[in-house]
Formats: sequence, structure tokens, C-alpha cells
Amino acid sequence: AKAQGRGRWAVYDPERTARDIARSALVAELPLALDRGEFVLHYQPIVSLLDGRMLAVEALVRWQHPQLGLIGPDHFIGLAEETGLIVRLGEWVLRQACQDAQCWHAEFPDARLVVSVNLAARQADAPAIVDTVANALAATGLPAELLQLELTESAVMGSAGEPLRTLHRLSALGVRLAVDDFGTGYSNLAYLRRLPITCLKLAAPFVEGIRGDEPEAADHRDERIVDALVRLAHALELWVTAEGVETEAQAERLRALRCDTAQGRLFGPPAPADTIRTRLAGG
Ligand code: C2E
Ligand code: CA
Ligand code: CA
Repeated sequence: AKAQGRGRWAVYDPERTARDIARSALVAELPLALDRGEFVLHYQPIVSLLDGRMLAVEALVRWQHPQLGLIGPDHFIGLAEETGLIVRLGEWVLRQACQDAQCWHAEFPDARLVVSVNLAARQADAPAIVDTVANALAATGLPAELLQLELTESAVMGSAGEPLRTLHRLSALGVRLAVDDFGTGYSNLAYLRRLPITCLKLAAPFVEGIRGDEPEAADHRDERIVDALVRLAHALELWVTAEGVETEAQAERLRALRCDTAQGRLFGPPAPADTIRTRLAGG
């Protein structure tokens, strides 16, 4: 049943059909979900590897579906990108994240907690993103330097001309720009230094290979890659955040490799805004 192109007979595949039905149901429900306020943001701490202080939180969207329960972004971000809904959803995420961050900032100004928001390639590509970001800051009163935007390698590396100008205009607003999942896409190193970015986020798979607790099981290539990427980032005067840190042994190795900040279950899972507030309050 390989030939399933347009106008051809496809062998009946009950599994595929169920998947397609589920998929089209989600596609139809996505815009409604936005109007019904079914999306929620969870926040995951990004901590300093030097002193454990929470420096930032990453906003991660979830869909509180009335029948299916809490749905993770992997199940709907792709669909939202394909259907174009990502632009409206992304605006909502940005506004909500800035709102929550401004509340934390008002109550705990000394924390200088940064909120980090993911931008889909399709959002980052549109020049209108500069106004969207400026509006979110103006409407919530969040200082620009407390907002970080995460873009994937493919979103920033492909940028030439207009998209590059968009990144520079975003940077001129005073927000921070981070490259997400660094090391998993196509990195044009010559290009990297022309980008107005402030941080590289090392993708979880590299961190997974670092297992200080079981030296025999460790993938030394991953460790050398992390070592090289941290050096590269520092040579370019960028911060490094290691993602997916799950064990104290990994944190220990990352510290030895001079990685600055880390994120992962070891330092706290993604959690509702209230949990972050409690943590800021020292609870
Ligand atoms: P990401 O940006 O790489 O986000 C990090 C993912 O790692 C999150 O998955 C987080 O829950 C997960 N994670 C946290 N701790 C650990 C750990 O210790 N080990 C491992 N292996 N993973 C950990 P999540 O929340 O399911 O998000 C998945 C992806 O969905 C994100 O990957 C991001 O690409 C996308 N996404 C999430 N929220 C948004 C959004 O608001 N807008 C856009 N455009 N994309 C989003
Ligand atoms: Ca991210
Ligand atoms: Ca990531």
C-alpha cells in the first residue's frame, strides 16, 4: 500500500483512518480552543549552574482539552503551523507570558526573572512579529530585557535579507534572542556571528549522552560536542543553556564544562505560573 498519491486507490488502513480523523478533529477544534480560552502556559525554570538561582523560565503551551485532558504541544504546534493558526496562538502565548512575567516582576523586582518564549519559524519570518512583540511589552509593561525569544536554528539560519532585518529590529527592542535546540539543525557558523543573538540552548540529546554517574555508559562524543559548543558560544560571547538536565551527575559534568545555565526535570518540571510565584517567594 505504498502508492497513496492523489487519485490512486489506497488499501484500507483502519489505523491510518483513525489517525486522520483524530487529526482533522483537532484541526477543526484548534481555532475554537483559542476563543474558548483552553490554552494554558506552564513555565520551566532555567537556573544558574553556579549558584542554582532561577534566572529565567521557559513558557511552554498546553491545551486543556475538555474531553482529552491536558495535551502537549507536540500534538498541536505542528498542526497550528500548517493551518496558520500559529500566528494567533503565538500572539496569545506572547501576551500571556509577558503578563505573567510582569506580575512576577512587580512582586519580586530583585529577581529580574526573564521569561523565554518560543517562536515558530512561521512567526519569526513575518515582519509583523516586531509589532506583535512591541505591543505585548507595551500592553503588559514588561521591561524588554526580561523577555527572551527562542528561535530554532532553521528559523534563524535560513534568514537572509528581510528575516535577518527582522531579527535586528527585534534585538533593537531590547529583547534577548536565543537559538533553540542548537546543534540539531543546520548551523552555519559563519552566519551565526552575524546574528544578534545572546544565548544558545543546547539540545537535550547531547545532554542525555553526558552521564557522569555511569562513566562506562557515557557517550564521550556527546561530551566533546558539548565541550566544543560551550567554547564556541563563549568565543562568540553568548550564554549557554543546557536543556533536558535530569541528573545531578549531568549537572556536575556541565558545570565542569563551563556551561552557564541549565533546564530540566532536575531543576523543576514545567509548572503553572503559581508554582513559579511560590518559588520566587522562597517557598
Ligand atoms: P522545546 O522548546 O525544546 O522545549 C523543551 C521541552 O523539553 C518541553 O517539552 C519540556 O517539557 C521538555 N523537558 C523538560 N524537562 C525535561 C527533561 O528533564 N528531559 C527531557 N528530555 N525533556 C524535558 P514540551 O513542553 O512538550 O514542548 C515540546 C516542544 O513544543 C517545545 O520544545 C517547543 O518546540 C514546542 N512549544 C512549546 N510551547 C510552544 C509555544 O508556545 N510556541 C511554539 N511555537 N512552540 C512551542
Ligand atoms: Ca524552547
Ligand atoms: Ca529546546
